[in-house]
Amino acid sequence: SKWTAEDIRRDAKEKNVHFIRLAFSDVNGILKNVEIPISQLDKALDNKMMFDGSSIEGFVRIEESDMYLYPDLDTWLVFPWGSDNSTKIGMLICDIYTPDHKPFKGDPRSNLKRMVNKLSDKGFTDFNLGPEAEFFLFKLDENNEATTKVNDYGAYFDLAPVDLGENCRREIVLVLEELGFEVEASHHETAIGQHEIDFKYASVVDACDKIQIFKLIVKSIARKHNLHATFMPKPIYGISGSGMHCNMSLFNKDGNAFYDPEAELELSKTALHFMTGVLNHAKAITAVANPLVNSYKRLVSGYEAPVYIAWSAHNRSPLVRIPSSRGVSTRIELRSVDPSANPYLAMAAIIGAGLDGIEKAEPVPEPTDRNIYNMTSAELAEIGIEKLPGSLHRAVNELENDEVVQDALGTHISDNFISSKRVEYKEYTMQISEWELQNYLKQY
Ligand code: ADP
Ligand code: GLU
Ligand code: MG
Ligand code: MG
Repeated sequence: SKWTAEDIRRDAKEKNVHFIRLAFSDVNGILKNVEIPISQLDKALDNKMMFDGSSIEGFVRIEESDMYLYPDLDTWLVFPWGSDNSTKIGMLICDIYTPDHKPFKGDPRSNLKRMVNKLSDKGFTDFNLGPEAEFFLFKLDENNEATTKVNDYGAYFDLAPVDLGENCRREIVLVLEELGFEVEASHHETAIGQHEIDFKYASVVDACDKIQIFKLIVKSIARKHNLHATFMPKPIYGISGSGMHCNMSLFNKDGNAFYDPEAELELSKTALHFMTGVLNHAKAITAVANPLVNSYKRLVSGYEAPVYIAWSAHNRSPLVRIPSSRGVSTRIELRSVDPSANPYLAMAAIIGAGLDGIEKAEPVPEPTDRNIYNMTSAELAEIGIEKLPGSLHRAVNELENDEVVQDALGTHISDNFISSKRVEYKEYTMQISEWELQNYLKQY
């Protein structure tokens, strides 16, 4: 590992760190933390910090509430801002362990590590993830509450003064760089008020940690600029939603296992089988990749978000696209994932599906190089192209019928996730929306 306990103690002292956030993610992908003063650092580094798991969403029942935080030393970071008296704040991302020192089965991060180990058993050294998270910047109202009023009327790749989000975006990039992110690009996205910042791919657990830190930084810096940043998938009807395309590749000791210079499209059998697994389990994956009622309002045609289960090396409309780079950058891009997903869960599900694809080596579906959105339903049916589930309710049913994806999440997480999403969906269906009032109140 990069950092030892001794390194962290020294770095904390040198940087005048007085508070340390011990962070972890709940089943909904919300970052949680306990903050300790530096005097408790040794105890934390000895894996002795305890917390009450029963108060965290999707974790445990009251009768088994004691949980331990095991900091992952390599996640050590110091925020570039301070607390009131000029001391700094550090953070460690933790795995959750039970009182008998076993990884807790309800911990999304530990579960992802379990899936990565399955890849190692097959001889793969790394599963890489490069996420492209999109978000909106909205104005605050007079009470500092978030609105859905955009901060600018810019469009794809626009420059200031149209893009008022530019200063905010630049500051986000600067902070990310200070935290050790290698930011590859930052630009205005298609919709008004919408932005994207891409950072370099990393090994999957590290990349998921980075996604969690990224969201925290984006939200914090936006607040400094009197804006609210949201990763909600579809905040405004009629314009593009926010996706989080996931670029993924598998490495072995010889390099990128998705690359084969001799093969058709220069894609290895491993790449094609992994992708086939993802396509075959795409419906169940959707439950975790698109976990909100609102996610399904993004997955509609006309806004560059996928609707159909298909792949292509040539156009951007399908669920899976193979970007044109080859060699070390050979990768598959899954375009359905949105930034409200718990990244640890979405990646565990995708790895489970991909591994199933590699193990079963089922026939690879034909690529779809035509624009699917221009095809009639008869044409789609003839070539066997199916749709992603159209609602959270359907996606959860798919998950309940897919043992491969359930195993990838582990029974503890999968059962909790399914039941909490059912409650969420039921509550939603009983609401009376603005649309209903507009269309029915006067008419009937
Ligand atoms: P797009 O063409 O969809 O806009 P980008 O070029 O913006 O894609 O995003 C590329 C993402 O893919 C970046 O996060 C980059 O680091 C990542 N990437 C590049 N090579 C690999 C790889 N071998 N495995 C996984 N991700 C990769
Ligand atoms: N915003 C689009 C989505 O919902 C993606 C746009 C893009 O291709 O970057 O997925
Ligand atoms: Mg984008
Ligand atoms: Mg993309």
